[in-house]
Amino acid sequence: MDSSSPAPRRVAVIGGGPAGLMAAEAARGAGLAVDVYEGKGSVGRKFLIAGKGGLNLTHSDPFELFVSRYRERAAEVSRWLADFDADALRQWARGLGVDTYVGSSGRIFPGDRKAAPLLRGWVRRLRESGVDFHVLHRWQGWSEDGGLRFATPDGEHVARADAVVLALGGASWPQLGSDGAWQPLLHARGIEVARLRPANCGFDIGWSEHLARQHAGAPLKPVLARWRTGDGQVHVQQGECVLTASGIEGSLVYAASADLREAIERDGEATLELDLVPGRERQRLLADLRKPRHGRSFGEHLRRQAGVSAVKAALVFERLGRDAGQDIEAVVDTLKQLRLRLQRPRPVAEAISSAGGVRLEELDEALMLRALPGVFCAGEMLDWEAPTGGYLLTACFASGLRAGNGAVEWLSGAFAQR
Ligand SMILES: Cc1cc2nc3c(=O)[nH]c(=O)nc-3n(C[C@H](O)[C@H](O)[C@H](O)COP(=O)(O)OP(=O)(O)OC[C@H]3O[C@@H](n4cnc5c(N)ncnc54)[C@H](O)[C@@H]3O)c2cc1C
Repeated sequence: MDSSSPAPRRVAVIGGGPAGLMAAEAARGAGLAVDVYEGKGSVGRKFLIAGKGGLNLTHSDPFELFVSRYRERAAEVSRWLADFDADALRQWARGLGVDTYVGSSGRIFPGDRKAAPLLRGWVRRLRESGVDFHVLHRWQGWSEDGGLRFATPDGEHVARADAVVLALGGASWPQLGSDGAWQPLLHARGIEVARLRPANCGFDIGWSEHLARQHAGAPLKPVLARWRTGDGQVHVQQGECVLTASGIEGSLVYAASADLREAIERDGEATLELDLVPGRERQRLLADLRKPRHGRSFGEHLRRQAGVSAVKAALVFERLGRDAGQDIEAVVDTLKQLRLRLQRPRPVAEAISSAGGVRLEELDEALMLRALPGVFCAGEMLDWEAPTGGYLLTACFASGLRAGNGAVEWLSGAFAQR
């Protein structure tokens, strides 16, 4: 980028997810010419999928708790959120005619829980404000003279810009456009990129064929999970998970997934302990399960006496064998403290989000790459992670705004005085 050219006023935003669109909005709002380049045939595909099960835009946590969700990167992300926090995000959505509400879990959703109306209104507003969209433009890196190379259906197109915002996403659900293929492009420019890894993901355990065949897809609810966090503390959380053909997934597992993934990276395996019958006290369970069965199967006995669902009973049999009913103490131990040995996280392509990305040390406060002046980065492609709960989108929006404002400041020449 040439910061000394007389009127450098065109910004290329590459990647049309929430981070890129927010950067485009900031740059256009400051009067710059803005081009959004998107590899897929339309923008915001992952955002739309995020809306399928109810778009969780942000969270009502108090600020300190909110930023603690970003773990090792809480300090950096809190500075982005200082400019655009959950309240600002709700107000921004209201500006697009979308009211939000706080759900019982503290999560914040659009009134209709959908992403499509919000995205449609946003893209319309961006277009009307003069943002140019170029879909089916897949960024391939830089040409020798600093142009931006795009693969398009009509062949290679080289575009020029005075500042660039990269908002290329992580590597989960690559069919929606974000496949992490940008990693070698930045690496080749000397940018340190932490390998993209699964976050908010399921894990392989390795069930018997019988359990996998009979119970894959069955919900385990409610359960109480216990696991060790990175600093050795035991974390306890109640929630729900789902048995899969190879292991376990679901919101409770996602909440634990960063700690569990790190434990596997460190120790080769991780343990997740489940109380399958939270709220049922040990002594009472022992007494209830010792009652006569009157010829009923032990699975049926578990259901009648302790409210144990078929899938939970199957986990007991998986652990203790078909004769589990012979040893009630062992059954109660298994129900109250089922220790699951996790072998590996599921691949990043299946995860809700990815950890890793451009190291934040490579960026200045405006999210500009120190090694590539005039090139900014935002969103999930940066090296931070967070659990589900609206924290992902909030940081994507906030970092997009910061990068867009950074590009504005850069082009105004303010950087020259730094
Ligand atoms: C099933 C699912 C549900 C989710 N639900 C929620 C939720 O409820 N709440 C929440 O906070 N988060 C949720 N998330 C996560 C959230 O959607 C992402 O964190 C967020 O979309 C990331 O935004 P982004 O702009 O950084 O990247 P993305 O949204 O991934 O956008 C990046 C864009 O860049 C484009 N691109 C990539 N490479 C290139 C290239 N070389 N050239 C041109 N374009 C390129 C991609 O096609 C894509 O459109 C969910 C994710 C999934 C998969």
